[in-house]
Amino acid sequence: MTFEDLQLIPPILAAVKNEGYTHPTPIQEQAIPIVLKGRDLLGCAQTGTGKTAAFSIPVLQLMMENATPPKGKRPIRTLILTPTRELAIQIGESIANYGKELPLRHRVIFGGVKQHAQVNSLQQGVDILVATPGRLLDLMNQKYVNLSQIEFFILDEADRMLDMGFIHDVKKVIAKLPEKRQSLFFSATMPREIVDLSNKILTNPLKVEVTPVSSTAETINQVVYFVDKGNKRFLLKEVIEDKGIERSLVFTRTKHGADRVAKTLTSKGISALAIHGNKSQNQRQNALNSFKESKTRVLVATDIAARGIDIDELTHVFNFELPNIPESYVHRIGRTGRAGANGIAISFCDAEERKYLKDIQKLIGMTIPVEENHAYPLVDENPVKPEKQKRPPRKPRPQRR
Ligand code: AMP
Repeated sequence: MTFEDLQLIPPILAAVKNEGYTHPTPIQEQAIPIVLKGRDLLGCAQTGTGKTAAFSIPVLQLMMENATPPKGKRPIRTLILTPTRELAIQIGESIANYGKELPLRHRVIFGGVKQHAQVNSLQQGVDILVATPGRLLDLMNQKYVNLSQIEFFILDEADRMLDMGFIHDVKKVIAKLPEKRQSLFFSATMPREIVDLSNKILTNPLKVEVTPVSSTAETINQVVYFVDKGNKRFLLKEVIEDKGIERSLVFTRTKHGADRVAKTLTSKGISALAIHGNKSQNQRQNALNSFKESKTRVLVATDIAARGIDIDELTHVFNFELPNIPESYVHRIGRTGRAGANGIAISFCDAEERKYLKDIQKLIGMTIPVEENHAYPLVDENPVKPEKQKRPPRKPRPQRR
């Protein structure tokens, strides 16, 4: 299925293309048509599945289709509630991207910062409000937020709201929403209290579920190397050369990290290119083609950039850094060992990443074998972060007489 098949309007199709998405993810395939039909939705999905686009894209489209020019200040038509500031910011960014060519205004509000700027922009009028529950209630109580014209309500990560103790705040917000509205409810897990809450919010919903990834293909050989952070680049070069690896995909956590790794490898005579969100669509495509044609030996990518990339006969995947979301590990290593082919997934783990390794092993239900025989064994178990280094004690001032 393509995004065109989902009957999206041209400005949204253009935005999706601009993001570099080639195909909708399973949750998008299922959820977008349901939301476009005006139905309530119960989505069982976790972060990393593309759920933000699954709700933002059809809601943006419906907001455009049902738009009536406002008299006076724009009313808030869509409310997206999410548990954390980080998620709120991410959702805000997604809406900015998908709605780039639409005349809709959005605003993100969360606690822990002064309210002044948030209040100011609310007073200018916004169409879409992304909020964490505490700050939203606060501003509602001060009469800066009016939810009486809400047409679309999205509750994101409901189970985390429960874990973080926000459920009462959420209920207070819901009490202020108009009865007639379309509601979308997302949760990774469905404990009893969450099911009860969804029953209160949704009317005759359709359910979509994407099973969380937890099983790693049996055809993939996994191995972990413990190594100091600063030596990872050298270890990578060594492993690639030692094992004569001709084509590998290397995952880094950041765009900057991807550039740095590609640069080091190239300087040591191993052809490498980085692909990430800061590169243009053309640059990414060229890098990919060069890799597919075996002109480039190593492709270094961030998780996001690597999505939707399909490379056959990829034998090796490196986790230059371990992902902090364990599901990402499964996605990453799933790039190799496709269609029954054998694949090898090599992970570099420094002292600080041991906790991520633990989470990954819990998710995949196995202990990843350790390669101990290598040139850069981990020695620094307690690396001191530069910013945490203590200042040297000040010299005592000479006493004045
Ligand atoms: P989410 O589960 O909403 O947090 O999305 C996880 C990541 O997947 C985000 O960085 C999105 O930009 C990316 N993403 C969402 N939909 C797609 C898609 N159809 N193709 C490729 N990447 C996507």
